[in-house]
Parts: sequence; structure tokens; C-alpha cells
Amino acid sequence: MKGKYSLRASVTSELVFQDCKIPKDRILPGVKGLRGPFSCLNNARFGISWGALGAAMACFHSAKTYTLSRIQFDHPIASYQLVQNKLAWMLREITKGQLLAYHLGKKKDAGTWIPEQISLAKMNNVDIALDIARMARDMHGANGILDEYPIMRHMANLESVKTYEGTHDIHNLIIGKHITGIQAFTRTI
Ligand SMILES: Cc1cc2nc3c(=O)[nH]c(=O)nc-3n(C[C@H](O)[C@H](O)[C@H](O)COP(=O)(O)OP(=O)(O)OC[C@H]3O[C@@H](n4cnc5c(N)ncnc54)[C@H](O)[C@@H]3O)c2cc1C
Repeated sequence: MKGKYSLRASVTSELVFQDCKIPKDRILPGVKGLRGPFSCLNNARFGISWGALGAAMACFHSAKTYTLSRIQFDHPIASYQLVQNKLAWMLREITKGQLLAYHLGKKKDAGTWIPEQISLAKMNNVDIALDIARMARDMHGANGILDEYPIMRHMANLESVKTYEGTHDIHNLIIGKHITGIQAFTRTI
């Protein structure tokens, strides 16, 4: 895929398999239908719920360092209440995201997690990471758009993460089905 503004360091390509013959000894034992790919996606989404927090933490630390060093009206902007409010909000969301991912990891180890919980964690942690990246960009002022700081890189990469491994619309539909018992992925016209 040419012209990516996001995840530029990774090669993204379209793969087409047509009339593809798979030797019998290459078939995964005991895997039928979409269960194999879905179990792979479950693990990848769980990993994303942690990875997004890493991006959020990098943005938080950059915002903290920057606002402590940037002087306005003779004081670091980190000494102003509105800036501290933003830092406290970031820390609050990161901590909640960590607890969510940690709890999900415990359920994974115990073999009691369900896909809807994985959807919830992936979606929540990517959403808060994006919000934190945008907040951090704002707190860096004009410097926030420079590649000298990690903010825009994380923000652009997180836009991909919001879409791959299930868009947040689809994760909402997965959770909505779990709550109501009604699937809303398709509709009859
Ligand atoms: C950097 C990158 C790497 C990727 N790597 C991989 C990979 O390794 N393997 C792989 O298989 N895929 C990969 N993808 C593809 C990714 O999983 C898809 O882009 C994603 O699933 C969304 O599909 P789509 O782009 O066709 O969007 P669409 O399905 O066209 O969705 C467009 C919009 O419509 C919404 N929408 C779609 N269907 C519904 C519905 N039923 N109800 C309500 N809203 C709906 C979506 O939420 C979205 O907002 C990658 C994508 C990116 C950006």
C-alpha cells in the first residue's frame, strides 16, 4: 500500500489467495472454520490493549516533561491548574486502561475470558490512547506537530490501530449484541 501516513515503518500489502491448494501436512490440526483466525485475533487484540497504553504513556511523559520546561509568565505551564488537570486526566485514563488489560490477562490465564471482553479492552485502550495523544499534542503547543516529539507519530499510528483488528464500530456491535442478544452487523432491506 503506497502513500501511508500511519505505521509507515511496516510494509502493508494486499494478499490474494485464489484456487490455492494447501498440502495436508500444512493444515493446523483441530482447527475448523473461522475458530483458528478468531483465536489469533483474540490474542492480537489483547496485545493491542497493552501496546496502545505504551503509546499513551509516551505521550503522557512527553507532555509532563514539556510542560515542566516551557515557561510562560515566569512559571512552567505545568504549574497552571488547567495543565495539571490535563495531566491528571491522562494518568487517570492510563491507570484505568492498565487495570482493564491486567484484569483481562488474569482472565486469559484462567481461561475464562470471552471475546466481548477483549473487544471492550482493545476499543477502550485505543480510544483513550488517541484522546491522550491529541491532548498531549495540544499541550506541546506548536511544538506538538514536530517530529522532535513522539506525539504525532503515535497519533497517526493509533489511527490505524483504531481500524485494524476490528474497527471500533464493529467492537461496539459485538458488545451491543452481547448486551441485547440482537445482532446489528447486517440489516435486511
Ligand atoms: C496499517 C494496517 C495494517 C493492516 N493489517 C492487516 C492484516 O495484517 N491482516 C488483515 O487481515 N487486515 C489488516 N488490515 C485491514 C483492517 O483489518 C481493515 O482495514 C479493517 O478491518 C476495516 O476494513 P475496511 O478497511 O475494509 O473498512 P470497511 O469495512 O469498509 O469499514 C469502513 C467503515 O464502515 C464501518 N462499517 C463496516 N461495516 C459495518 C457494519 N456492518 N456496521 C456498521 N459499520 C460498519 C467501519 O467500522 C468503518 O468505520 C490492516 C489495516 C491497516 C490500516
